[in-house]
This record gives sequence, structure tokens and C-alpha cells, in this order.
Amino acid sequence: MPAAFPLFLTLTGQTVLIVGGGELALRKARLVAGASGDGRGARLVVVAPDVHPDLAALAAEVRRRPFAAHDLDGVTLVFAAGEDEDEAALVADLARARGLLVNVPDRPALSTFIMPAIVDRGPITVAISTGGTSPVLARRLRARIEAALEPGLGRLATFLDGFRAAVRAVKSDETARRRFWERVIDGPIAQRFLAGDEAGAHEQLVKVLNAAESAEGGSVALVGAGPGDPDLLTLRALRVLQNADVVVHDKLVDDRILDYVRRDARRVYVGKSKSCHTVSQDEINALLVREAQAGHRVVRLKGGDPFVFGRGGEEMAVLRAAGVAVELVPGITAAVGCAAATGIPLTHRGLAQGITLVTAHGAAAEGGSAEPAIDWTALARLDHTLAVYMGLSKAGLVAERLIAAGKAPGTPAAVVQNGTRPDQTLVVGRLADLGALAAGLTGPALILVGEVVTLADPAKIAASDIITDIFTTLSSTPGRLGDTTPENGLKAAV
Ligand code: SAH
Repeated sequence: MPAAFPLFLTLTGQTVLIVGGGELALRKARLVAGASGDGRGARLVVVAPDVHPDLAALAAEVRRRPFAAHDLDGVTLVFAAGEDEDEAALVADLARARGLLVNVPDRPALSTFIMPAIVDRGPITVAISTGGTSPVLARRLRARIEAALEPGLGRLATFLDGFRAAVRAVKSDETARRRFWERVIDGPIAQRFLAGDEAGAHEQLVKVLNAAESAEGGSVALVGAGPGDPDLLTLRALRVLQNADVVVHDKLVDDRILDYVRRDARRVYVGKSKSCHTVSQDEINALLVREAQAGHRVVRLKGGDPFVFGRGGEEMAVLRAAGVAVELVPGITAAVGCAAATGIPLTHRGLAQGITLVTAHGAAAEGGSAEPAIDWTALARLDHTLAVYMGLSKAGLVAERLIAAGKAPGTPAAVVQNGTRPDQTLVVGRLADLGALAAGLTGPALILVGEVVTLADPAKIAASDIITDIFTTLSSTPGRLGDTTPENGLKAAV
């Protein structure tokens, strides 16, 4: 089935021919009648020797006889929905030869158009096509969309339409108009309308429209995009992204998330990699201030959470100092995302009393560097799961320092690369092997150190010669994992 071109057809005043008089023909007739409704619709003509009474009732004209070529005269659209397959093929051929739109139910090869699955919130219509690949999937999608769209949405659209001329008169600027509508639709007015208080919504909309227009300044939303999987975006992040005029993002943000950005929004890539800074932090800060002061709604999109090793705090401070409105939208940080994607609980009774998130950025620092030295002794002493960000290239060093500070070399450790993404890799071993475990990985990768690593989902662990038989060793070490046996060695002690 070739890709189909989606369009919505206005059938007002057009003639639609239905060849066939049975149930199938009736279903098509109902769709046509439903889509054109309120007397302004298509003129329905039915040709068949026997016509179902309900179908006859919908039709403007019924021709009780077999199909003839001249039935196509003056017609825009044809359904060949009779029981006779040869007749349907003939109708389709003749219709195509005349350049008419024709549909033969369940025979896409004969049809020039197919009927999508429909969610009807008149005047809002959502049409779904799977390109003929899976009608069941189409129905499932329809159910999901049905559930997501409020029943009163169609009436809301009509209500808003009634105000369009008034809004255009008050707000001549297109951007200002768009924002006005977005505020109405996302805000209390639409909520009130959908909740059934249509008079209240009307009154409030009139009031807002009459109120002197306050000067609209720009704003910046610091948005966490999560660890990669677009499903892990928050609903708020999605809404803010879709409303943005400008999106400033870096390398960690997955392309599939950028697909949610409005197509006419500007995207600015300020990707940073460890050694080559494409755009400096000062330049990014200045860019955010400049764009917001130009009146744009700016989204600063960051991997994970903006406030976890994301320099979100610095950007927030600069924006506040410049008097720019800042909205903060949290995201799922790498440690939390990677934990869920590998089956490693970050805290677990008897195994980890807490979580410590650290960056290995300053791991090599011993004075001299701008980064303060890490307190390895404190980290080694804590009965915590340790999540090390930006630690891939220093994995061996991290292990060395932790062991020197008293952490047991046999402590389970994991490296999760591209966590939550389709190309996620999980390797596990002992702390002493961390350098070797990380070798060959290119990141982004998160290091997890702690007993909870033994709970990792075995199916997620990458096969590698480096990976030791840590589970067997650990589960056979008395007292180490409580009541586990070699068979259920991965089960937690409780
Ligand atoms: N603000 C981000 C962290 C930015 S620092 C957050 O909250 O997650 C960049 C580091 O995050 C990387 O070096 C890596 O350690 C970690 N990271 C980010 N995304 C990751 C992913 N999908 N898988 C593994 N680690 C990731």
C-alpha cells in the first residue's frame, strides 16, 4: 500500500454516489451524512435494485436498478459498496477513468482513497490511518485518542470560533493572538467551558478581551528532557515545548524529543562535549536573556533534570538577575532513568540506605584544578548507592580512589550507557573492575556502585568477557545477600 495523502474533503453541494443497497452501503452513507450534517452536506444518490430502508431515508435520490455508467455523471465521489465484486471492480475502473474519487470497501487496490478511523468531536475530527497495515492498531489508537479528548471539545472549538473576529480586532499581531488563544485554551476559561459552565466561560473571555492588554514579555523555561526516551518527558515539559518560540538545546537531548517542538519554532543547538565547547556557558546565558527580552518564549532544554549537574542553577540566577520570568520544569535525572531501565533499585531495604549523586568531573583534582576535590572517604563510608555522572573516562580512577578510601574492591558496580534509549548497554562487575568495565564505552554513561547492582535485570546485562561471575560469587558468599540461593541469587535479601 503506497503512502496515503491525508486531506479533509468539503462535500457541501457535491454529489456522492453509493453503488449498493445493503449494510455496507448504509455504513458509508452514514459516514457521509455524519460528516456533512446540518443540511449543508453532500447530495447522496444510491443505485441498487434493493435498498435498505434506512439507506433510502438518508438518500436524496434512490435509483432502484443495477448500476449504469451514466450514474457517474455529475458525481464527485463514489462508493462501490455493493455485494457483487465484479460490479464493484467495474464501478471502480469507470470512476478512475473519469478522475473521480472512488472507494471499494476492503479493496485498497481498487480504491483511490481509503476511509480513516475517525474520532468525532465535531467540528473537530481526528482521522487515523495505518496505511492499511493494521486495522486493529488503528482501532486501538482511536480508543486512546477518544479517551484523551474531552467530550466537550467540539463545542469548545465552536465557542472559540465565535470570538475570532473580536480577538483579531483587539490583537493585530499574529504572535500576540496565538499567545492569547494559548492562554485561553490552556487556562481556566477552557477548563470552565469543558466543565460545563459555558456562560461563565463566555463572561470571563469577554472580560479578558476587554481588559487593557498588558505588555507581554518573554520568558525562559528551564526544562528537563529526561534521560532520552521521549516517553519519560513530563506532560508539563511537553506543553511548554509545544508552546515555545525558541528552543535552546544541547547534545544530550534526544532527536525524538525535538520532534515535539513546533515546526515553526527556532531551534538553537548549543551542544557541549567534554573537550570542545561549541558555545560557552556565558554565551548561552546571554542568548537566553536576549531571546527572552525580545519577547520570545524560550525553552532551555536539558538532558535529565536541569538542576542535576545541568548548570540550571546558574542559568536561573542570570535570568532572574536580568528580570526575565523563569519557569522550572523538572525532568527524570539519569540516575533515576537508568535505574528503572536496568531494574536496579537505587535504595533497597538492607542494601542501600540512600543515594548519593556525584560528578566525577573533579575526580582528578587534587588542588590545582578549579573543581574542589571529592571527599572520597565520606563517599566510601556511606551506606549509599553511588551514582557517578560524567565518570566514564575516569572510571578507573573513581574505583581506585574509592578503594583507597576504604570501599571494598568487591562492591558490585555497573555502567549504564545510553540509559533508557534503544541502544542502552548495561555492564556489571566489581568496583575493582570498573575501569575495565567502562573501557570501550563512549557515553553518555552513568556509573552505579553499591549492593543494589546485584538486583539488575539479568536480561538487560550485556554479554562480555570482562563481566565476572559476580552474581554467583556474591550469592555464595555467606551473609552477603542474606537468604539467597545460587538459583535465586539475584533476589534481594529482605
Ligand atoms: N542533567 C543531567 C546530567 C547532565 S551531566 C541529568 O539530570 O541526568 C551528563 C551526564 O549525565 C553524562 O556524562 C552521564 O553520566 C549522565 N547521563 C545523561 N544521560 C544519560 C543516559 N541516557 N544514560 C546514562 N547516563 C546519562
